[in-house]
Amino acid sequence: MIGLITRLRQLRHSDQTIAAYVQETLVESLYASPQSLVIGAVTSSAITMIVALVSGNAWMTGCAIAIAAVAGSRIVDALRLSRRSAKRQPSKKAALGPWGRRQERLYRSGAIGYSSLLGTFGLLTLVNTNDGVLQLLAVTTTIGYAAGIAGRNAGRPWIALSQLSFASVPLAIGLLVSLEPLKIVLAIVILLFVVAMMDITLQTYGVILKATVASREKAALAEHHAAIARRDDLTGVANRTAFREQFEARLQRLSVEEHQLAINWLDLDRFKEINDSFGHLAGNALLAEIARRLDQAFGEDGVVARLGGDEFAVVCTVKTEADAMTIGQTILALVEKPVLHEGRLLQVNASIGIAIAPADGSDADTLLKNADLALYRAKDSGRGQMCFYEPLMDEKISRTRDLAAEMQGALERGEFHLVFQPIFDLAGEHVLSCEALLRWTNRQHGAISPAEFIPIAEDTGLIVSIGGWVIREACRIASAWPQAVKIAVNLSPIQLRSADLTTVIMNALASTGFAAERLELEVTESVLLEDIEASLAALDAINRLHVRTTLDDFGTGYSSLSYLTKFPFQTLKIDRSFITDLEQSPASVAIVQTVIDLAAKLGMRTVAEGVETQAQLNQLRRTRCDAVQGYLLARPMPASMVATMLAGNAQKAQARS
Ligand code: C2E
Ligand code: CA
Ligand code: CA
Repeated sequence: MIGLITRLRQLRHSDQTIAAYVQETLVESLYASPQSLVIGAVTSSAITMIVALVSGNAWMTGCAIAIAAVAGSRIVDALRLSRRSAKRQPSKKAALGPWGRRQERLYRSGAIGYSSLLGTFGLLTLVNTNDGVLQLLAVTTTIGYAAGIAGRNAGRPWIALSQLSFASVPLAIGLLVSLEPLKIVLAIVILLFVVAMMDITLQTYGVILKATVASREKAALAEHHAAIARRDDLTGVANRTAFREQFEARLQRLSVEEHQLAINWLDLDRFKEINDSFGHLAGNALLAEIARRLDQAFGEDGVVARLGGDEFAVVCTVKTEADAMTIGQTILALVEKPVLHEGRLLQVNASIGIAIAPADGSDADTLLKNADLALYRAKDSGRGQMCFYEPLMDEKISRTRDLAAEMQGALERGEFHLVFQPIFDLAGEHVLSCEALLRWTNRQHGAISPAEFIPIAEDTGLIVSIGGWVIREACRIASAWPQAVKIAVNLSPIQLRSADLTTVIMNALASTGFAAERLELEVTESVLLEDIEASLAALDAINRLHVRTTLDDFGTGYSSLSYLTKFPFQTLKIDRSFITDLEQSPASVAIVQTVIDLAAKLGMRTVAEGVETQAQLNQLRRTRCDAVQGYLLARPMPASMVATMLAGNAQKAQARS
């Protein structure tokens, strides 16, 4: 008895503290098996009806009708609610939700009403009839019902305990008031039985509660783990797996909704530099902050994910292409904003490739491939750019990939050859040197412009071996020319940074017997800005071999005249764009004049390239550069033609002398 009272106290306490979702599960257990409720309701209302009819007592008949009515409505409720509760999502709130409260109230009123009616019917039978069989039927039905309830509704113990009391206590009263000794004994037995059943109910409740809590916790833990597995560790945004799922879900919705989806695939420019110069922690902080900004801006309505490394994806709903453009610009601005890390400002740019669904594809694979193609193009056009996917991109990029593959064996197949463009003195009479220009005629693609294949050779790294061949081949061919004619060879930035450049040059000179002083290497100015120290060292090493260096395409990059003083160039080649402008623009004349004067002061020779008209040549004669090159004087030509031309020149010179 004391144990029972303690359990009842605990029950009051536990009912207030257990989480709502556990309570709901327990409430659901009331409706878990409608069959037992149906069987109980049908049999007990049938028996009470029979007992009432046989007794002919009006009170009992009325009570039996009430029992049948309540039983009927409970059956309907139980069947309806058991079907609904199967479809419901459990709530995670801390209190029993309105659904749970309503269901519990409904069940409680039905259950208590029904058990009170049964108890009352037992009491009426004991009081109004003397028929032992009828009394036996009424008592056993009520007690049987009470016993069943104790186990069935243990999940909501207050209901079970009330039902037990409301059914059995009137019965015990009925037996006690009969004042018959045997019935009094039975009453006492029934009351003891009620106490025992209450204890069993509470014990069962304890077990059910523990099991429910454990299973709920396990489910919550599994849910938590699943969420973690789909999140990027470093930045907290969706990872590749989660991105794929969410992206595909968005695509499916697209077919029924009236908007478009913009897929922004972004890649940080110069992220590696940050990592290399400031360490991984700085790199990580930068990634996390960028992810946070993107998530804040687009996470609510869109999908923000880190696809790995320094790549992110942002998927957003848009109405027009202009919307997508705005989103791209916002992303660029968010990424560009410096990130403060340990007192240092870290700054990167992003390149963005944009594909729009459904126009650029309807399945995830196609769209991602197209966004990637657009990204490839964006990166190609410089830092901080965005680029929309265009159908032709496919072709261009697949051609690039084809060419890269074809270039692998091109040197061995002898597909490369050199042409030479003479560089003249200002009078246009003497060839001072010839620039070697590489040509590639591929077995499948035919003649390919160097403007197209040189960047590919640089990207694949093949430029190092191809460039080495160019140096050797140029020296070999030029060694047959008159001593006074030099050869100029273009050097890619990649070659300039390759460790064995000096060895390559020395070997080329040694194997052809070509004099180092006759070789000039042309380097574009963009290379110098990227790594000043390394470029200086490489140029010095070249100069130490007595090979000359030329700064090519001067004026196209970010070069300032002042920094020219730092680099050991012997020659400066003024870019074609200035020469083209000479005729129309007085500013160009001034620039070219300034460059020539400064170069002269620094002890450098100047070459004007891309001279196409007589007017340009006349102007250059006034500004007094040292040499000119261009279609006006000579186009690039095969080695045999150069030899003929140089021989002709030599004859003319001889005739004059
Ligand atoms: P570049 O070094 O500026 O070479 C000059 C380019 O301008 C050549 O084009 C030449 O044919 C062209 N050109 C010469 N005179 C004129 C003119 O009066 N008007 C016009 N419109 N163009 C003129 P090409 O041969 O197509 O070479 C393009 C670029 O490819 C070169 O520009 C150079 O950067 C690169 N390249 C060519 N051969 C090699 C090589 O062996 N190694 C490396 N690394 N790059 C090379
Ligand atoms: Ca050049
Ligand atoms: Ca040039």
